[in-house]
Amino acid sequence: MDNIKLSEHPWTIEPNELEKHFKTNIEKGLDNKEVEQRLKFYGSNEFTENKSRGAFGIFFHQLNNPLIIVLIIAVGLTIYLNEWVDATVIALAVIINALLGFIQEYKAERAIADLKSYVRDRVRVVRDGVEHEIDAKLLVPGDLIHVVRGTRISADARIIQETNLTVDESLLTGESLPETKSTETIPETTLLADRTNMIYAGTLTVDGSAYALVTKTGNHTEIGKLAYLVSETITEKTPLQKAVEKLTWVIMIVISLVVLAVFGVGVMQDQPVYEMLLISIAIIVGAVPESLPIGITSVLAIGVGRIAKKRGIMRSLTAAETLGSTTLIMTDKTGTLTQADMQLVDITTLSDLSEKPVPTTIRERYSGEQKELLTMALCSSDVVIENDEDDPRNWEMSGSILEKNIVKSAALHGLRLTRDDRANNQVRIPFNSKHKFSVIKINKEFLPKKYAKDNFHVVMGAPDILLGLSKMDKEIFHKTTDTITQMSENGRRLLGLAVINLSEKQNDLKPKDITELDFLGVLSFYDPIRPEVKDALQKIYSYGVKVVMATGDLPGTALNVAKEAGFIVDEKSVLTGKEIRQLNDKELTESLSYAKIFARVTPEDKLRIVRLYQNQGEIVAMTGDGVNDSPSLKAANIGVAVGSGSDVAKSVADLVLLDDNFQTIVATIEEGKRMLVNIKKIFVYLMSNSLDEVVLIGGAILSGFALPLSAIQIIWVNLFTGSIPAIAYAFDRQPVPKDNHASRSFFDGPVKFLTIGTGIVTSLLLFLLYVVLIELGIEIEVAQNVVFACFGSYILLIAFSFRNLNLPLFKYSLTENKILLYGVIGGLILLLATLYVPFLQNIFDTEALSLPWLIFVIFWLILNVAIIEGAKWISYTYLKK
Ligand code: ADP
Ligand code: MG
Repeated sequence: MDNIKLSEHPWTIEPNELEKHFKTNIEKGLDNKEVEQRLKFYGSNEFTENKSRGAFGIFFHQLNNPLIIVLIIAVGLTIYLNEWVDATVIALAVIINALLGFIQEYKAERAIADLKSYVRDRVRVVRDGVEHEIDAKLLVPGDLIHVVRGTRISADARIIQETNLTVDESLLTGESLPETKSTETIPETTLLADRTNMIYAGTLTVDGSAYALVTKTGNHTEIGKLAYLVSETITEKTPLQKAVEKLTWVIMIVISLVVLAVFGVGVMQDQPVYEMLLISIAIIVGAVPESLPIGITSVLAIGVGRIAKKRGIMRSLTAAETLGSTTLIMTDKTGTLTQADMQLVDITTLSDLSEKPVPTTIRERYSGEQKELLTMALCSSDVVIENDEDDPRNWEMSGSILEKNIVKSAALHGLRLTRDDRANNQVRIPFNSKHKFSVIKINKEFLPKKYAKDNFHVVMGAPDILLGLSKMDKEIFHKTTDTITQMSENGRRLLGLAVINLSEKQNDLKPKDITELDFLGVLSFYDPIRPEVKDALQKIYSYGVKVVMATGDLPGTALNVAKEAGFIVDEKSVLTGKEIRQLNDKELTESLSYAKIFARVTPEDKLRIVRLYQNQGEIVAMTGDGVNDSPSLKAANIGVAVGSGSDVAKSVADLVLLDDNFQTIVATIEEGKRMLVNIKKIFVYLMSNSLDEVVLIGGAILSGFALPLSAIQIIWVNLFTGSIPAIAYAFDRQPVPKDNHASRSFFDGPVKFLTIGTGIVTSLLLFLLYVVLIELGIEIEVAQNVVFACFGSYILLIAFSFRNLNLPLFKYSLTENKILLYGVIGGLILLLATLYVPFLQNIFDTEALSLPWLIFVIFWLILNVAIIEGAKWISYTYLKK
């Protein structure tokens, strides 16, 4: 095919030359055949991602773990001491743990990478004269794209027409202030950051809109050249991982000191240095909780995967970790609590608003005057219909929620416009949730007859705000305001319509220039509650998590929706943006104790509220969709962007809801709590067992007894206890305890009590058992064997007890977690084999236990389980607030 050579310096080309240069049509875009050819020639608009660390990299990364390093040193030492069996068993432990860690980390990395592909980039493109929304991958150089406010730009492009376009290019240039764009030609030498007539892939449209011609795609874009997309997510450790890493260093140092002391005492007591060295290594190997970091990664990776199945996309493991600690959700209303599938129920003209009481039933037919209002709203709505279904109910549309519903409702009443009807529309001020209206110049034939002149523009937005900006009689103003309040209290979502007389010359139109409106009427919509929200709300309440609503909508509408959704609220729970702005921080903080609904708020108000909640110690998850929401999404502990929201919001969010649904937030937080619960189990289980060897061996040496366990026995038992049960916990799906405290912070009272308490008691008991057996005159070999059997098996058995720290053992299933079940059974079989198979008896220096002793061991196991259960009982009955 022809080589399509496009200019390397598109910013230098005069606007009227562009068409020729790009071999395209500036009105109609490329035709589909040309697109196909260019797609073949240039390839799809994707980055070949920086190869994330390969499998080998991840594997060796496992060895970069203080606990594993200790084990490797132990291998070296045992080889040096010519203890080949010990060396092999420790090496096996290293390999098993490195493998487990590798699998989990690899999975986590894949999971996060996969998640990225869920959040697809879409782009509006004009081809063959028709505007579509397509997957950004399919863009080619020469394509005519329409960039709109709040979206991520998908390719490098030269602007050919723009309205108030400002772009956040910080990703590329580091400049944090948005750049204002224009179409004017600039010199060739202009640096990237100053190329005002270009837009670049990966940057974000903060305001305005533009048409532009794609100049570069995929790896050829500026950002593609930077090979920007590195997976920064996994390599960045989460706070908990860092805390645990620190803790493991502390543990190691403490254990080393203790072991050094034991070694010293042993040598002074004339124990052979060689034996003492070996046993010291064994104690360290046994006490080091090498699978703790792996367990935590597993929980996070599995959790992120489960959340994705529920249509929530976590952007990082750190966020996943915070999730479970959420204490307050600040949700928006439209789409999250409601279905966003609005039905037009009435059109009320100004004369009706100020005179008659407004009926609450759905109006089926509209008068000429009402249809004029609908037509004007329809023409002002910038919506693209994606499929060619005839029935509007089956349309797939892109655009703002409200505008989509205007277009659909109008079609259902027989009003449809073609693309050409809106071709000359000009968005003079785009809607945003701060000023809450838009100003649009539309084709004058779609304005109400009275205003069908060139200088009249449509103003569409929050009715109370438009009223305040309108010229009208005081009395009518008050009556109309009352009616609107009353309508909103019926739960209607209202959209005001007005016109403004603007002289065309007023070029740089600002929201503050919008006054002296002619108010024409309101459209009322009914937006039903999502049916699943009620249950979700009750569930999240039961976890002690608070829920508040922040909306740009009217207080009446908000309160009505809240009541329907099952919020416990009354008039006093509502604060409006206006009221909020009159309160200082201290006063507002006081109001937060009873306020549950924030209505008619701006993004700035939301940011302030989030900060004040955080000052009170709340961990806030907050939803947002608009460009202006990004500061508060960043400020919130968990910024939640809805899937239908702007790319700007998604780019800063920690969680993206593919289905916009409040229920998904609840399910996600629940999963986060489950993750915390599972991490706690792993921690308690592994840490509480660390002390055994130290106490047993240290105790024996200090009190001058023969060693109860040999080095090889300790190393052997360490191989098949610990790791498997701990990682099995990561797969647990048990119900999350209802009270908030049980899953709130990590190192809480129960965790400390269970770790230290059961750790010390079970270790001391084991030592006591040994002492008593010897004092009773039992043969030393038998005593050693009994202690070995007890030591090896009790760690396996109590894994069932630690599987749920909040319920007694008999309240949950023992066979549900198959990995745990088979892991424990496998461990027990190995242990029995060690005791009864002659070959293994030789290696591990053991003897067969007689039946009475075996029964004794079983009793010992029951005793230990009972101790753990008792400790759990104390912890869940007394240690909770
Ligand atoms: P929320 O999403 O919390 O319901 P918004 O800030 O989106 O609130 O909307 C506030 C008000 O602005 C709405 O009640 C409606 O009257 C008006 N509005 C919403 N979307 C648009 C739009 N696309 N164009 C004009 N006005 C709008
Ligand atoms: Mg909104």
